Amino acid sequence: MASQEDIFKKLIAHCKEYGFVFPSSEIYDGLGAVYDYGQNGVELKNNLKRYWWDAMVLLNENVVGIDAAVFMHPTTWKASGHVDAFNDPLIDNKDSKKRYRADVLIEELLAKYEEKIQKEIAKAAKRFGDNFDERQFRETNPRVLENQAKHDQIHARFVKALNDSDLAELKAIIIDYDVVDPISGTKNWTDVRQFNLMFSTEMGSAADTAMKIYLRPETAQGIFVNYLNVQKTGRMKIPFGIAQIGKAFRNEIVARQFIFRMREFEQMEMQFFVRPGEEMKWFEHWKQLRLKWHKALGLGDHKYRFHDHDKLAHYANAATDIEFELPFGFKEIEGIHSRTDFDLSSHEKYSGKNIKYFDPELNQSYTPYVIETSIGVDRTFLSIMAASYEEELLASGESRIVLKLPPALAPVKAAIFPLVRKDGLPEAARSILEQLKFDFKCTYDEKDSIGKRYRRQDATGTPICITVDHQTLEDNCVTVRHRDNMRQERVPIHSLHHLINEQVSLKNLFKKIVE
Ligand code: ATP
Repeated sequence: MASQEDIFKKLIAHCKEYGFVFPSSEIYDGLGAVYDYGQNGVELKNNLKRYWWDAMVLLNENVVGIDAAVFMHPTTWKASGHVDAFNDPLIDNKDSKKRYRADVLIEELLAKYEEKIQKEIAKAAKRFGDNFDERQFRETNPRVLENQAKHDQIHARFVKALNDSDLAELKAIIIDYDVVDPISGTKNWTDVRQFNLMFSTEMGSAADTAMKIYLRPETAQGIFVNYLNVQKTGRMKIPFGIAQIGKAFRNEIVARQFIFRMREFEQMEMQFFVRPGEEMKWFEHWKQLRLKWHKALGLGDHKYRFHDHDKLAHYANAATDIEFELPFGFKEIEGIHSRTDFDLSSHEKYSGKNIKYFDPELNQSYTPYVIETSIGVDRTFLSIMAASYEEELLASGESRIVLKLPPALAPVKAAIFPLVRKDGLPEAARSILEQLKFDFKCTYDEKDSIGKRYRRQDATGTPICITVDHQTLEDNCVTVRHRDNMRQERVPIHSLHHLINEQVSLKNLFKKIVE
């Protein structure tokens, strides 16, 4: 069986070969952790963004959207705390000259202990069969107990070091537990240093009047500085939310996992403004709703889990991640944070403007509290690609690569083929495309055998293929072939629109969220 690493490599190659994701400026050998989306990637990405946007602003009467600029007044980032505190702890290995995030090295160490425990449990479960009692095993097995104790020891030190911003202690953990560089295999580490992740540039033409500005490291602040504008012009009543999709930029220290960690990426964020004291209720509400949104994609419920934060950011009083099982383990794809009134209060202080809300029901003014849902477009894209990619062995002994993408997100919804390139079949096929193109992204293909054409569409995840043959000219029926089960059926041309719509409508996903 192929290792997870091999599968991930294949997935990256597939993304390139089929026009989903290319390294940025590839003809110049690329740019670290920057990627471009190709002709299929951009369609999938747009569909994903539409799925999120509509789930926010259509399904929730009290959520509206905005689109703020990437550039913002520099004081924004002073007020938000990013100038002073948006740092990652970095460490270098002196032999390999590679740079790592110290916190990530320790998280990986913790994951190794968890893996060891899981392996023992899996072995025992197999041995004892139905009689296996996992709790008892965890409480009594010496090897599990030993690994759990080590794990808990490291975890306790790690959390304390993070909360105290104790960089020397982070290094001490790395040294004490023999963390080696995966490349050089040595423990020859530098000290841990803080590194600010914001990119900066200058605005203005003359050197003496130029102003240092930042490329936003999160889209959230564009929402906070527009809170009053939206609340007033939209006559919004608390609770309400503001949603936004846009680019964010972070000078990530380590960027080795394809589009999982990029220096330019896209976020879909929603800030939900609530009464102080009600934030935990809304935190729970959005946690559950966001998980439903993910699960509605049908990638497998078992691939998601919540992971509560060990260290709360300076602005938060509760935070959890939705993690997804990628080929390199469970990783964060979305964060849900209870941000208190930190941001609005801080902007009020720095700007000198009154950002309070008058609550007519309470007859009282207050600074709203905020629940944030923050999801990465690119990480979600990766999770969808990873879960959809399959190398399938067919009954015929042949194999095929198929992307079992959620049909509503597939880049192309239907491919239309003439069986042969003559006898009026191309014209008939094109006339079907002309009818369908107003509602669905379709493609026309007349090259190679039908089997090869099916394979090409399977590899890009097209849910439906439509073949026009000689009989079509007589009975106005076509052969429809379905991607996942390869089933074929004969259907009248006039029913195609309905048939495709039934499969690819985003409504199918929305219904699962609201049910
Ligand atoms: P990590 O701990 O992995 O660096 P984070 O906790 O800093 O992530 P947030 O600040 O909570 O991430 O950002 C919200 C979301 O934005 C993340 O869940 C992720 O999907 C996305 N995101 C953050 N950084 C990146 C990045 N460098 N590349 C791609 N997506 C990112």
